[in-house]
Amino acid sequence: MMKHWIERIADDLKQWNVEKHVIASGTSISGSIHIGNSCDVFIANAVGKQLKEIGEKSETIWIADDHDPLRKVPHPLPESYDKYLGMPYSNIPCPDGCCDSFVEHFEKPLLDVLDDFGIELTAKSGFEMYRDGTYDESIKISLKKVAEIRKIFNQYREHPLADDWLPYNPICDECGRVNTTTAYDYNENRDEISYKCECGHDGTMNITSGNGKLTWRVEWAARWKIFGVTCEPFGKDHAASGGSYDVSKIISEEIFDYKAPYPVPYEWITLNGDAMSKSQGVFFSPQQWLEIGPAESLNYFIFRSKPMKHKDFTPNMAFLDFMDQFDKVEKVFFSEEDAPSQKEGKKFKKIYEIAQIHSGEALPFRPPYRFLTVAYQIAGNNPEKIFEIVKKNSQLTKSFEEKEFGDLTEKELDEFNQRISHVKNWLEKYGPKFVKFQVMKKIPRLELPDEQKAFLKDLANLLEEKEFNSAETLHDEMYEVLNSHGLKPQKGFQAIYKMILGQKQGPKAASFILSLDKDFVVKRLRMEE
Ligand SMILES: [Zn+2]
Ligand SMILES: [Zn+2]
Repeated sequence: MMKHWIERIADDLKQWNVEKHVIASGTSISGSIHIGNSCDVFIANAVGKQLKEIGEKSETIWIADDHDPLRKVPHPLPESYDKYLGMPYSNIPCPDGCCDSFVEHFEKPLLDVLDDFGIELTAKSGFEMYRDGTYDESIKISLKKVAEIRKIFNQYREHPLADDWLPYNPICDECGRVNTTTAYDYNENRDEISYKCECGHDGTMNITSGNGKLTWRVEWAARWKIFGVTCEPFGKDHAASGGSYDVSKIISEEIFDYKAPYPVPYEWITLNGDAMSKSQGVFFSPQQWLEIGPAESLNYFIFRSKPMKHKDFTPNMAFLDFMDQFDKVEKVFFSEEDAPSQKEGKKFKKIYEIAQIHSGEALPFRPPYRFLTVAYQIAGNNPEKIFEIVKKNSQLTKSFEEKEFGDLTEKELDEFNQRISHVKNWLEKYGPKFVKFQVMKKIPRLELPDEQKAFLKDLANLLEEKEFNSAETLHDEMYEVLNSHGLKPQKGFQAIYKMILGQKQGPKAASFILSLDKDFVVKRLRMEE
C-alpha cells in the first residue's frame, strides 16, 4: 500500500520502542514567521498526529529561539533598530508598543493561527528555559567536558578553536550584546564564567542567571536530552554534511549520552521565485494564507510533495491553478469527482488525508475557487446570488446539485461565506488586472461596427427564445450565430465585453452570460436602457 512520507516517518519511529515520542520544532524569532520557516511546526504536528494514529504516545513541542542575538533588522522596522543588533531578541522591546516584547510581537501571529490549523503544541521559550534553570545541568556538563566538545567541533573546522574556548556565550553586562563576547574561563566552584566583550568590558557572570546561552550546536543537543526529543524537522541549512545536525548528533551521543532524534530536513519555500527574507520583507505568513485560502490548502501545499522537494509559492495568478488542484483533490477525497487515474486517485486521497485538519469531517461546501472569482465580481457580496450563478453554471458537485441555497446547513453556509471572503481578498490583494471587471450599470457610449451589432442582436434573440442550462450548449450555439455573421469569435466576444463591461476582455463568454440576469443581458445586447 502506498504510504505518505509522514506515515513512513511515524512507522520508523514506532520501531524505536520508546514510552513517549516528543517531536520538536523551533523557530528563530528574528522577525515575522513565514510559511517557509514555520514548516517545522506543520511537519512536527503532522508526525505527532500520525504517531497517535498508530497507537503511539506523542507530544509536539515548539521552542521559540528567542535568546539568540538580532543579526539583521527585520522588515518593516526602522533602521534605528540597529542599536539592538547583537542583543538577544528577548531583551528587545516591541516595535509598535502593542505587546510586552519584540518576541511576543513576532510570535503572536503564528500562535494565533495554530487553532485554525488544528496544531497542538507545547510552546517553550529559550529565554525562559535559561532563566528557570532548565539548561543549568546541561551547561555544567558542557563546561566540564569542554575538551571533548572542542575536539568534536574541530573535526569540522578549518581553523581549530582556541584552547580557552568555551561552548558558552555570555550577554555583556555593559552593552547587552551576546555576539560580541568571548568566554575564556570557567570557575566550576562558583559556576562563574569570565568573558571579554568587544565593547571593552571584562566581566564575570553566573551561568545559572540566564544571562547567556550555550553555543547553538551544543544547545540543540542539550534540549534533545532535556525534553526526550525523538524526532525533529529542520531547514536544510542545518542538514548539510558537517553542519549543525551532524555535529549536534555527536555531541548528543558523546557528551549527553542521548540518541539523536530522527531528522526530517526540509527544503525552503521560495516566494515568486525569490528566497524569503525577513530583513528584506520578502515573506508570506500562515496568517496571510488564511486570508485567501482554507487552512487545509496550506497543509496541502506543504504535504503534497516530499520535504526536500523545492516549493515555490506564488500568490497571484498561479494561485488559481493551485486552488483548482486543491479543489480537485478535495473532491476526489470525498468521492465527489473522479481522479484522472486510479493511481492518482489513491495519491490524492492519501495527501488530503494528511492535510485534513479534523479527520472524519463532512465534505465542505466549497464551489470552485476560480469560478467564484467571476461569480463574486458579478454578484458582489451576496451569497444567495452567487449560489444561483454557481448552480446555473453547473458548478455544484453531485452532493449539492439538487440543493437550493436555503438547503445549506449552517456549517456549509459558513464554509461558503469563508470561501467568498477568500476570493474577495485574493481579488483585492493578488488578482492581476486582467481578471478584474465590473458590470457597467449603463450602456457604455461606444460605436460598434454593424456586423457586431447584428451579432449581439441575434444573440439576444437566442437567449430570449431558449433556456440554457449549460455553458457548453450556449457556447456551441453562440459559435453558430458568429458563423452566420461571418464574424471571428474574438470580434464577437469583444463586442459582448465592450457592451457589458466597457472593456475588451472578460471571463469566458458563455458562462459569463449565463451568470448574469437574463433580462439585463437581453436588453443590453439590444442596446436598450
Ligand atoms: Zn507588538
Ligand atoms: Zn559589551
